[in-house]
Amino acid sequence: MEIRELKVPGYEEVYRCSDRRTGLLSFIAVHDTTLGPALGGCRMWHFTAEEDAIADVLRLAKGMTYKSAVAKTGLGGGKAVIVGDPKTQKSPELFRAMGRFIHTLGGRYLTAEDVGTNVEDMHNMRRETPYVAGHSVDKGGSGDPSPFTALGVLMGVQATVETRLGRKDLAGLTVAIQGLGNVGMFLARHLKDAGCKLVVTDTNAERVQIAVKELGAKAVAHTDIYGVECDVFSPNALGAILNDRTIPQLKCKVVAGGANNQLAEDRHGSALMDREILYAPDFVINAGGIINVSVEFAMGGYDEAASTKRVRNIYNALNDIYKTSAEKAIPTSEAAVVLAEKILADARKAKGLPARNVWANQGVER
Ligand code: NAD
Repeated sequence: MEIRELKVPGYEEVYRCSDRRTGLLSFIAVHDTTLGPALGGCRMWHFTAEEDAIADVLRLAKGMTYKSAVAKTGLGGGKAVIVGDPKTQKSPELFRAMGRFIHTLGGRYLTAEDVGTNVEDMHNMRRETPYVAGHSVDKGGSGDPSPFTALGVLMGVQATVETRLGRKDLAGLTVAIQGLGNVGMFLARHLKDAGCKLVVTDTNAERVQIAVKELGAKAVAHTDIYGVECDVFSPNALGAILNDRTIPQLKCKVVAGGANNQLAEDRHGSALMDREILYAPDFVINAGGIINVSVEFAMGGYDEAASTKRVRNIYNALNDIYKTSAEKAIPTSEAAVVLAEKILADARKAKGLPARNVWANQGVER
């Protein structure tokens, strides 16, 4: 196994690892550990060039620093990528080698599931290192993060409705849900219980049928969801769905959903503000899953009640962001970054560390 450090400005540590015996080619980026060890999933993807894998691991690691800072997980931001096709190039040996690579960082990087990796891969890594989260409940882990993500999104819908519509109660509101997957379906059930009317879409007709039959939802074509007359639009499927084409179609007052990277570009945060639509920044409202995983590293191990309490705090995190957004007259997406930077700067000061602008070298991405 050959491990080489790559010096990347703005990042604490970045490593490349290749292992001829198992075919492993992987990168780990530790972006910032001011708040604690760097937690971020391990992604497996068939990158066509090494440069693409490096760009991805850097971008994602930095995004994790933001997310964990605002979610107050007590952890920093990092990420790992394995270059390879997750459908054809997985083996237990490959993930054991990845576990050994992770172990060389001595706990400064903590891994979990991500796109292209699953619970079985986590188990294989865990045979080589303890620095792996996201394993199954029967093995003392936190299990499927989706119900926690959905609970966090529900808290986010409540905070955002309260700020924009001035009401605490969700009963009678119409919510348009894009995507009824793991997160979207749990969320739809919560919203139904809260008395909301649901308008739903999914490219998978079976998921739509479940929502129609069990939750009394109204179904629309997946191209029509943006123009639905509603109080809340909740994206829970794809990224980049808030863009020049879709924002003019929106007939809602709130956008609050679990999907990652909802804004096609940063400027779309301003476009939503101009239309007086209150946007719940994605990396804040969808942090329930990472909060749940982080509890695995708490003293005494995973505790569902402690996790639920922390996830509910997303309500307060969003209220802080809306306050900052109103005070500074900036979009909520920008206010979320301001808040993350402040949390990091305060922690560095409290620890007597020199101030540093963690975002200086790479621009602002999530
Ligand atoms: P999922 O794959 O289970 O669900 C996505 C759903 O969207 C699927 O049912 C799919 O058929 C549907 N879909 C795909 N294209 C669509 C389209 N054009 N229109 C409507 N529906 C479409 O994924 P998930 O775990 O529910 O995650 C949903 C989103 O939330 C993703 O963006 C994910 O990155 C993000 N997220 C998930 C978690 C989590 O805990 N699972 C945590 C944080 C963020």
